[in-house]
Formats: sequence, C-alpha cells, structure tokens
Amino acid sequence: MKFFIVHAHPEPNSFNSALTRYAKEVLDTTGHEVIISDLYTMQFNPVSDRRNFTSQKDPNYFIQQVEEMHATEVDGFAPDIKAEMEKLDWCDVLIFQFPLWWFGLPAILKGWVDRVFAMGKVYGGGRFYDNGVFQGKKAMLSFTTGGSLTMYTEIGINGNIHSILYPINHGIFRFVGFDVLPPFIVWGASRIGDERRQAYLEEYKQRLLMINATPAIVYPALADFDEDFQLKQL
Ligand SMILES: Cc1cc2nc3c(=O)[nH]c(=O)nc-3n(C[C@H](O)[C@H](O)[C@H](O)COP(=O)(O)OP(=O)(O)OC[C@H]3O[C@@H](n4cnc5c(N)ncnc54)[C@H](O)[C@@H]3O)c2cc1C
Repeated sequence: MKFFIVHAHPEPNSFNSALTRYAKEVLDTTGHEVIISDLYTMQFNPVSDRRNFTSQKDPNYFIQQVEEMHATEVDGFAPDIKAEMEKLDWCDVLIFQFPLWWFGLPAILKGWVDRVFAMGKVYGGGRFYDNGVFQGKKAMLSFTTGGSLTMYTEIGINGNIHSILYPINHGIFRFVGFDVLPPFIVWGASRIGDERRQAYLEEYKQRLLMINATPAIVYPALADFDEDFQLKQL
C-alpha cells in the first residue's frame, strides 16, 4: 500500500519524529511505499492567501473558494500546493503525525489542510462525505499528548478525546471522503519513560501492519439525511 505521512513537529529528535522514522522503517521493510511531507523541514508555508495560486479569477476581491475552483479548471495552484495534492492522489493511506496543540492540529498542519484541501480539487459539487473525492482511501491521526488518558475520558477534565478529534476526523478527513481509522495516541509522551515509549513504538508498528483489518469509525451516510441535511426520522 501507499502511505503518505504528513509530519508536523519542529524537533527532529522528538518522539513524534521517532514515530515517523519508525513508521517509514516498518513500512519500507514490509513491502509498502511511503512518502513523508516533513512540514517544518520543508518550511511549508501554512498561510492561505493569494500566493496559493498562479492564476487569478478576480484580482480585486479575494474569495479563496472561488479562486480554488478557478485554479482547478486552469491548473493554477502554486507548485507547493500542487505537489501535496499529487501525494494525496497517490496514496492509499494518509497519516497526520503531530503533537496535540491546544486540543488540535499545530498551525503548520492546519494551514497545510487550509491550502491543500481546495474546493474543486478535493471537494465541492456534491462530492463530500461518502461521495467524497477520496472515497476508498483511509486516513488516520497519530499523535502525542501532554495529558494522560484519564484526563481525556467522558468524565476527565479535558473531555472525551473523540469529541475533541471530531472536527478533524469528521470535519476534515470524512468530509473529503476518507474512511477514518481510530487514532493512534501516545498519552503523556514526555512523562512516561523510555521503556513505555519503546512499547508505544511496537504498538504503532502493529497498528500500521493491521491497517487493512482495522474497522473505520462509523459515521452516518449521506443517504441517512433529508434534503435539509438533517437525519431522517426512522
Ligand atoms: C503550543 C502547545 C500546545 C499544547 N497543547 C496541548 C493540549 O492541548 N493537550 C495536551 O495534552 N498537550 C498539549 N501540549 C503538550 C504536547 O502535546 C506534548 O508536549 C507533546 O505531545 C509531546 O510530544 P513530543 O514529540 O513533542 O515529545 P518530546 O518531548 O519531543 O519527546 C518526549 C521524550 O521522548 C524521547 N524520545 C525521542 N525519541 C525516542 C525514541 N526513539 N524512543 C524513546 N524515547 C524517545 C525524547 O527524548 C523525550 O524525552 C501542548 C504543547 C504545546 C507546545
């Protein structure tokens, strides 16, 4: 299978970087193909504006989605965005590797989504959720936290981790059609000690090797909603 890892950590010796390096090693040695976008090393620009485009539909008033639709028609995306879109088209499995920052993605990775997941190319015209552009592909979050698992339960002080991840898993991955796999989470990465971190690396290896046998998170299908996009009453 073809794996595309979008890696967002500024420190090459971090545990996140160890997870990405180990994933590549495991996947390379088990007959898979891997492409990594190491956003900090690439100095990826996360700021979404006119520089996303080599073409202009309206030079007087910038509406990003209008420009995205136009760029899709005229092949007018900036080279850095185009390169990431090609990796998305290529992959069977997309993985985001990152430290949880403020209950979400680090800005460099959120900016990658803002710029690369463009209307026209990646969604739009009724292509969303189970009718999305990336249907048939899988996506998974792999991340580390500062807090412990107990802080992220229904009764934990930070709330249920799956509610926190819903905007990413559902609002980004599922929106554009991916089958969303349960996240791989390293809880309290800097506090747990080397031995536990080694065990996490092994657990991650198993997750990667079992990716085809891992059931996706179940979300309602488009057909479950009425014309106002409200769940149909049974
Ligand atoms: C802006 C910001 C916002 C944050 N928001 C949140 C939040 O909302 N919720 C939350 O829970 N946390 C939050 N945090 C904490 C953050 O999530 C953690 O600091 C981060 O997840 C730790 O992962 P890391 O890769 O950076 O760890 P690192 O500190 O880089 O690594 C942890 C340890 O692993 C060691 N290590 C490296 N490689 C290996 C290896 N191969 N084998 C074994 N050990 C290794 C390192 O030497 C280090 O001792 C936030 C932090 C910041 C800076």
